[in-house]
Formats: sequence, structure tokens, C-alpha cells
Amino acid sequence: MTLVLTGGTVVRSIRPAVVETVDLVIEDGRVAPSGADSSGAERLDCAGRLIVPGNVCAHTHLYSALARGMPYHLAPPRTFVEILQRVWWRLDRALDPAAIRASALAGGMEALLAGTTTLVDHHVSPAAVDGSLDIVADALAELGIRSVLCYETSDRDGPAIARAGLAENARFLAAAAAGGRPLARGMVGAHASFTLSEETLAGCAALARDRSVGLHVHVAEDAADERDAEARFGRRVAARLAEAGALGARTLLAHGVHLDAGEIEIVRDAGATVVHNPRSNMNNAVGRAPLAALGDRVALGTDGIGADMFEEGRVAYFRQREQDVETPMSWPLERLAEGARVAAEAFDDPHLGRLEAGAPADLVVLEYPQVTPLDAATLAAHWLFGIGSGSVRDVFVAGDPVVSDGRPVRVDQAAVAAEARAGAGRLWRRLEEIDVHPFNPVEVRSWPT
Ligand SMILES: [Zn+2]
Repeated sequence: MTLVLTGGTVVRSIRPAVVETVDLVIEDGRVAPSGADSSGAERLDCAGRLIVPGNVCAHTHLYSALARGMPYHLAPPRTFVEILQRVWWRLDRALDPAAIRASALAGGMEALLAGTTTLVDHHVSPAAVDGSLDIVADALAELGIRSVLCYETSDRDGPAIARAGLAENARFLAAAAAGGRPLARGMVGAHASFTLSEETLAGCAALARDRSVGLHVHVAEDAADERDAEARFGRRVAARLAEAGALGARTLLAHGVHLDAGEIEIVRDAGATVVHNPRSNMNNAVGRAPLAALGDRVALGTDGIGADMFEEGRVAYFRQREQDVETPMSWPLERLAEGARVAAEAFDDPHLGRLEAGAPADLVVLEYPQVTPLDAATLAAHWLFGIGSGSVRDVFVAGDPVVSDGRPVRVDQAAVAAEARAGAGRLWRRLEEIDVHPFNPVEVRSWPT
């Protein structure tokens, strides 16, 4: 099947910026070489429009999609750990298969409508662990969005659920490796050092090594994670992960806000990628990530605050500019390109995230009037000061249309929203019955010796 997007301004690459006005030919799900024969092909008029590679969200939690506006009657959380105990660790305990599905559909649909074509998700549902990644993957397959999935292994709900979490990662990785899910890949998920026993962390590291995939884990999001590692193991989080064999070139470390200079050296030596989630960091008041020291291998995620990477990139830029006015305008595009590199590695498809010959045709057509010249030299400025998810018109994943004229192609938008609202009502009622999560990092609890 061949499709030609005619007359658009095509961003072939965001790092380095490569922009040309060209008819983009898509053949069998991939970008065809320039000059490929497209006679008789279906054509979509993109004159005056901008075509960009689909965005990648390198860290999100689809399971939180139904949390928007949920009731809260407990004492307000005062710390990051209390935010987990009082909000997120209660919500995840309330998730059942129907809520997991409704969350994935709603969150995945919003991602596509915002021009995000790949989600790197971190799922948890301690009351429904087994098969939960299939529910997420099935929902995302219905929408036609690409994903890299994992289950958030943790000891906070006890050793049996920790083992079940690890087994769910192993099961999904085996199923993904067997084929049959062209748009989904797996990683090994783990929550964070402070909720992981030595045994569980070793199990995660061994599974990731065995399957040649990365570990996807929260790292030093809050200082409590570091204090716990120092109290329990006499070393900081990155050193603990490295010693466990959990740190490598495919490792995805979410946040990294409190990594110190020694840890940054460990992370950089390992070639691991840090995922920066600026809106989440601000929302949880956890601090500022040491971005200058972390260098190039920093991608962008939303940590569950939607999946609008135009917005996340903009917020990341302005927050960083406030701190360092020399931050170049190309910086957010480089961070988005890092997310695309992570996805490309997971799919073993090195052109993913570009619109070059041979690349998977994951792309977004924007209704974006170019009121100043748009070329390689000005792309970054347009990205920061002009382009936004409100301009998304059409979205293709692997050459298939998944959003057309601002509407999802494969699902009924109103029906997905209605299923989500009904699921939210049920989820919120269950949530009211769930008490504050009892798990604490070591700093405020004496551990059995
Ligand atoms: Zn997260």
C-alpha cells in the first residue's frame, strides 16, 4: 500500500534539524526513498502544512489517566513520600482489569491526539498483576499507538506481589519476543530503590540481562530515595543499581533529580538514559534535575501528566532557561530525539523517530501556518514559540492513519471517553475505601533486622 503526503513542509529529522518541502511517499508502513514511484497511489494534500516525526514520551503512567479530578479526603500530603502513600499507591491498589483498560484507552487516545506516537509506559496494578500488560497492550493496539511497556516491580505490597510483578515482566517480554505485537515491546520495570529489596532488584537486573532489554526504574526522584539507600546499603542509589548489575546502556532512569556528582559519573559511564519529567518534578516539589551535568543522554517524559510532548518540551525549556539563559533553543528537540533513540533501540529500528527513507512512518501532520520562514535554522524557534498539540490534524503510526482531521480513526472518541468516565466513577468509589499505604522508606521506619 502506497500513500503520498503531497506538498507539505517535512521535518525529516529533529536532531540535526533537516527540513524540506517534498512529497513524502509512504510504502508498506515506511518512508520510501525520494523519487520513489508513486503513480496510482492514494494522495493526501498537505500543502501549507507541517509534517513532523511522531513524538515519543519516554516515561509515563497510563494507569493514572482516570485520576484527573478524583476525590481526596485525607490530610494533605506534605512530602513526596506522603504523595505516594496517600495518592498514587492507593490509586494503583484500586485498579482492576476494567480500570486498567479504560485508563490505557483514554491515555493512549489523548497521546495520539497530541501527536505522540510512542509511549514508554510504567504500569502498576497490585490487585491485578498477572496479564495486566496484555490489557494495556491490547488497548493501545486498538488505538494503533506504539509502546514500550513494563510492570513496576516493587516490594511495597509484599514479597508475593513483588514476585508476581517480576513474573509479569518476564511473561510479557516472552510474548513480545514471540511476535504478534508489532507495535509493542517490553522492558523490565521496577519502582525505585527505596521500595526494592536486594533480592527483587537482583531479579529485575537478571531478567533485563537475560532478555537483552533495559530496566525502567525511578531514580532519585526525591531525596528520600537517596537517604533510604544510604541507610540500608551505605551507598547512594546509582551505586546500588550499578553494583546490582542493573545499570547499562539500555537502562531508563526516570527523574534523577537528586543524583550527586559521583552518581552522575556512574550513570554516564554506564551510558544509561535519564528521563526528565519537568512538570511532574514541579508538581511534586522534588527539586531540579542536574541537567547540565547529566549531558546528552536525557530524554523527556510526562510521568503521567498526559502525553503532550510539545507542552513538556516547552516547559522543560522555560524552566531550564530560568536557571541558565544560555540553554539553546535546540535543547528540547535534542531531548525529544533522545526519547526517539530509546524507542528505536527498543524496536531495533534505528530510523524510528526520523522521516528518512526506510524509517517507520510514525508522523504527525500539523495545521500550522508558517508566519515566519520555517527551515532547519528556525525549526527550534517554531517548536518552542509556535507549534503545539492544538495544531495536530492527522497522525500515522507505521504508515497507518490513527488520527484524521483531529479525530481518532480506529475508535469512537466519545465512546472511549464515556467508558473512561464510567470507569473513573467505579475506580473513585473503590479508592475511597482504601487507606493510606503503610510502606515507608527506611528513614522513618525501623526495619526488621
Ligand atoms: Zn514515574
